Amino acid sequence: MTARRSESQRLAFRARISHCDAMTAVQVLLPMALTGPYDYELPSNMDAPVGSIVRVPLGKRQVDGVVWGAALGDVAPEKLRPIIRCHPVAPLAPDLMAFIDWMANYVMAPRGAVLNQVMRVPTAFEAPQPLLAWQAGATRPSRMTEARQRVFAALADANMIPAAELAARAQVSTAVIAGLARDGHLQAVPLPDAMPAQPKLKRDGIVLTDDQTRAARALAQAVEKKTFSTHLLDGVTGAGKTEVYFEAIDAALESGRQALVLLPEISLTNQFLERFAARFGVAPAVWHSGLTMGERRRLWRDVSLGKITVLVGARSALFLPWSALGVIIVDEEHDAGFKQEDGLIYNARDMAIVRARFAHAACILASATPSLETAVNAREGRYQRHHLEARIGAAGMPDIAVVDMRSAPPEKGRWMVPQMIEAIRDRLTNQEQALVFLNRRGYAPLTICRQCGHRYACGQCDAWMVEHRFRRELMCHHCGTVEPKPEQCVSCGAVGTLAACGPGIERVTEEVIEMFPQARVAVLSSDLRGGAAVMRQTLAQITAGEVDIIVGTQIVAKGHHFPHLGFVGVVDADLGLGNGDLRASERTYQLLSQVAGRAGREAIKGSAMLQSYMPDHPVLQALVAGDRDQFLSREAAAREAARMPPFGRLAALILSAPRQEDVVALSHHLARKIPRAADIDVLGPAPAPIARLRNRFRYRFLVRAQRSAPIQAFIRQWLFGVKMPGGARLSIDIDPYNFL
Ligand code: ADP
Ligand code: ZN
Repeated sequence: MTARRSESQRLAFRARISHCDAMTAVQVLLPMALTGPYDYELPSNMDAPVGSIVRVPLGKRQVDGVVWGAALGDVAPEKLRPIIRCHPVAPLAPDLMAFIDWMANYVMAPRGAVLNQVMRVPTAFEAPQPLLAWQAGATRPSRMTEARQRVFAALADANMIPAAELAARAQVSTAVIAGLARDGHLQAVPLPDAMPAQPKLKRDGIVLTDDQTRAARALAQAVEKKTFSTHLLDGVTGAGKTEVYFEAIDAALESGRQALVLLPEISLTNQFLERFAARFGVAPAVWHSGLTMGERRRLWRDVSLGKITVLVGARSALFLPWSALGVIIVDEEHDAGFKQEDGLIYNARDMAIVRARFAHAACILASATPSLETAVNAREGRYQRHHLEARIGAAGMPDIAVVDMRSAPPEKGRWMVPQMIEAIRDRLTNQEQALVFLNRRGYAPLTICRQCGHRYACGQCDAWMVEHRFRRELMCHHCGTVEPKPEQCVSCGAVGTLAACGPGIERVTEEVIEMFPQARVAVLSSDLRGGAAVMRQTLAQITAGEVDIIVGTQIVAKGHHFPHLGFVGVVDADLGLGNGDLRASERTYQLLSQVAGRAGREAIKGSAMLQSYMPDHPVLQALVAGDRDQFLSREAAAREAARMPPFGRLAALILSAPRQEDVVALSHHLARKIPRAADIDVLGPAPAPIARLRNRFRYRFLVRAQRSAPIQAFIRQWLFGVKMPGGARLSIDIDPYNFL
């Protein structure tokens, strides 16, 4: 990815604005889904350089926007409305503005929609109310009580005391202070901003291995260079990657710059935060969707002022107003959770690289199972690869075995084969933990009536309702529709004839409890009651050894360190292989290797067992052989032959409308307008695999291009002048991960 030339031209153009003497017209970009900036008059008494956050009139409203550059002069000056005021906050940095321009062009979203990601904390632009402190005034009261004496004694020691603390420190009532202030014996002064405690790497902690030292040095050097570079930090789960990138963070801090760590599952990072605090003395700042507006405001400002030097965050942390970014780390870079699928569609892993490029920072992608894109980029030398050979723990990698379900099926009505139950029993006898994994929420994926055969489907989507027995509900996993589970069949009225088909995590839990009635069982699934708080508590119990068997969906696969875990049993290893998605094999490999990698991370020798009906599948064979690189090169060859990513590029167009005939007509209309291009072809239109979602009918096109082809320009040309019938929508997904 290279910056477009026009970007630097535009920056140069912007720098000239402030030199105009006459009435100045500027472009202000508003954080909305508009295509471009609007022109406004910059009043002569207002200083608002490029990047300034300003309040402007828009129709009858007032909105905040950003001065984006000089106006092009195509609006008559007398028609321009003046900027109302300039907010007392540092202008957006040129690298952030350039990133917004670039990203809008790449993901084909309006620039204002990208800017909106930066400006979602409106109150951060106002000057914060300064906190007040009390100081002794010049006079003393004529009547000096003991309480009043204590106030002056406290102030004599400290000179100034935060207003909120004085009463407590002097052990007086607030009335005493109010009285002194009223008579002028105390003076209110603004409290100077305190710098929060800064992280600093402790050198007396862990001694890095040779492999780690080599990788850490190379990364630290890359950060110190203050130029853009991209790195893959590659090593099996438990190889010590986190310790290595801590050194890169330290290098950024040493050179006076900031570090951003992007993690996929932000609510589950307690372990990470504790580890960080143990190594750096203080916890990093944390940015995620659950913050209050007040917390957001403080973080936004402190990042922009450089008071926050290390922040761990979800995708949207990329859009914070970093003042001096030195390194971005994307941990678990292969994780599909980095792809934002609704609203603004983008891949935060890829955008992190671009953000780093504009900031002249290093970008470090860390993974035990790198995505094929990243693996190929490293192989072709676009990214520098740093490899950690082995696990730190003495026991090494877990042994992985596949059980052939065709020759060794489970007992009737059960989901775990006898071998798996034996393996769990052995581990429990040894005082070790076992994990039973199934990547499917709920009790059963399908409910049918035994009497009439009716299958329970969502009323708004082409999808089956999933039973959640614990909550006595049927739920659509696509739109979230919930219905109570009926007593009688809605179709034939028979009572007690509904049957659950197939297993979900709740059903497996039921079996585990039946088979091991003495064991302490913990369930980890995203629709657990109590949310993140309960999840954290359960994770702590697991770490403390207060749990024997963990039953979980994919959320247990990511990043957790369970020191007592010896065995991982996968109930259905084939799940996900059959869905025909471009990345089905790659993702299944990543998921299973991550979940198996939870076992044996310390002294215990770990093992994993995969139940499968297709034990010869290349993915399962590669897992058993532990041969990731061979798997990746075979996968790469197949993709190259099909001109699929990362050897070609894809973009999806998803059309939808409440009425089927509208979406069909629109897709036919678009099909007739497909431009000709030698290096780009278009597949479709075809009904989407989920042909109806939330009561909207859906069609898809897939654009496939050679890697160097101008796919965005092609789509722009294609869609130019297309009119959308009422209620229809079109969304563009560049580099799609989801083909549903
Ligand atoms: P990864 O990020 O590759 O999965 P971690 O950095 O989490 O691996 O390391 C796995 C475990 O090994 C952690 O408990 C970590 O504290 C420990 N560890 C890492 N490096 C060392 C080292 N050089 N010496 C001792 N323990 C280490
Ligand atoms: Zn639905």
